[in-house]
Amino acid sequence: MLARVGRRIGSVLFSGSCFLCRGKAEALLCRACDADLPRLGPELCPRCALASPAGAVCGRCLTQPPAYDATTAALAYRFPADALVQALKFRGELALAPFLGDLVAKCISSIDVDYVVPVPLSPQRLRSRGYNQALEIAREVLRRIAPATAVRLAPELCGRNRDTAAQMDLPLAERARNVRGAFHCPRLLAGARVAVLDDVMTTGATLEEMAATLKRAGAARVVNWVVARTFPSHV
Ligand SMILES: [Zn+2]
Ligand SMILES: [Zn+2]
Repeated sequence: MLARVGRRIGSVLFSGSCFLCRGKAEALLCRACDADLPRLGPELCPRCALASPAGAVCGRCLTQPPAYDATTAALAYRFPADALVQALKFRGELALAPFLGDLVAKCISSIDVDYVVPVPLSPQRLRSRGYNQALEIAREVLRRIAPATAVRLAPELCGRNRDTAAQMDLPLAERARNVRGAFHCPRLLAGARVAVLDDVMTTGATLEEMAATLKRAGAARVVNWVVARTFPSHV
């Protein structure tokens, strides 16, 4: 497995061709594909990162405030952002982690956190996949922001109790129930400020459960840093 992943990283890093279109490129993506990435603008709710005029807190967050305090998302989860995220998550394309981590780091306006905690995988899924894509991205985000701050990567602050059905395979309405009780914090987090890192935010059910768990353990503030945000059609 590792040898295979290693070869793949090599081919991605040194091929000189764009990861998406295979055209000539000096970076992971050629300029045209990079320009095509669905980067998100400022017209987003600061709390949930869904579209909101003038970047005001949206009605849903006002009437039913989520457990997390803010969300930063780099991209909309549609082509080609979804292709990049899925290649890292399911195909072992670990060379995408620095690229995606860089996108997230550039969107973080204030680093007002003490810890960055990636959404954990269950031990079973970690064994079968061999890596946690959220941890790989978090490492790269930290590499870019840490020199200027005291923020620390702390995957040990939150564990996953059990394997849940993949959120992607479930109807939206069942996702909150699916992740309920899925996480635990092994120690108290008295007053800590935490950024939770994930690759994709869809309904926000996983991040809501993580934030609620971290706050029950004493975290004072929980923000989400995500690569890509899905925009539900009904919102
Ligand atoms: Zn290209
Ligand atoms: Zn909102």
